[in-house]
Amino acid sequence: MPLVTSKELLLAALEGRYAIGAFNANNMEQVQGIVDAAVEEKAPVILQVSQGAIRYAGLETAAGLVKIAASEANVPVVLHLDHGTDVEQNVRCLRAGFTSLMFDGSKKSYEENVATTAKVAQIAHWCNIPVEAELGRVLQSTDGVTEADVRAAMTDPDQALDFCTRTTCDSLAVAVGSVHAMQQAAANLDIERIKAIRAKVSVPFVLHGSSGVTEESEVEAIGYGIAKINVATLLNVAFTQALIKSIEAQPGNVDPRKFLLGSREAVKEVVRHKIRLFGSAGIVNSSGGLISPKTSHRSAHLGGAEE
Ligand SMILES: [Zn+2]
Repeated sequence: MPLVTSKELLLAALEGRYAIGAFNANNMEQVQGIVDAAVEEKAPVILQVSQGAIRYAGLETAAGLVKIAASEANVPVVLHLDHGTDVEQNVRCLRAGFTSLMFDGSKKSYEENVATTAKVAQIAHWCNIPVEAELGRVLQSTDGVTEADVRAAMTDPDQALDFCTRTTCDSLAVAVGSVHAMQQAAANLDIERIKAIRAKVSVPFVLHGSSGVTEESEVEAIGYGIAKINVATLLNVAFTQALIKSIEAQPGNVDPRKFLLGSREAVKEVVRHKIRLFGSAGIVNSSGGLISPKTSHRSAHLGGAEE
């Protein structure tokens, strides 16, 4: 299928109380592992290109890999920019065929974040492409953050209302207790804060830094409006561990494909596990459309969810 935008997928996920997995890919094996899992699980999927991936593979190559993989898949695939740095990069991504953008102004002043996000959204909306924005800050574990730092950086519900109204962003990355690049799933999300933001704001929420969050907490958060969950570190851990094992098991082999087969498979299994956990498995019908949440009974297994 051709790429689709994230707009309808995230609204359908919000309504159906499941989440779309947004997986970071840096190379061909990761792209293939992610798309293969989505196809086998009949799940819509978001592939996202990070700033690191752009530096590593180049914007056009990273986008091209996803576009080709999507064209061969019979499930909806989104090409998303992760943590876009400015207006210029977002416009370059529009030109490169991205179907979902992000501007991350969370390190800037509030007014600067509002102004730049609004500008990116205006340009993207002219092209019918949705924009994710970030308010509050999802910190980096490598910066040695404390619990107090995480709490101080959380999204403020009243500010979120003002922010979404003024920027017209299509989805909002919320800071609710997760931290980027964690290799252990130990954190619990602040569900009360997610509920408080949900009471003010109607756009789908995005969870960054999910690799450091317990799975119970992830599933609970889906019931309160988290409709996109980013997964990056877990995929890197699986890829690299499989690669090390494969190299150790094949002394004398010089064919890189024989080493990378295991890594591609390892990525696929992590993605499969997350797709099932997020409730998005089996959502795509045989013609590539989405099954209505009313008939998919997704809400039932996410008990405790309420408006
Ligand atoms: Zn992030």
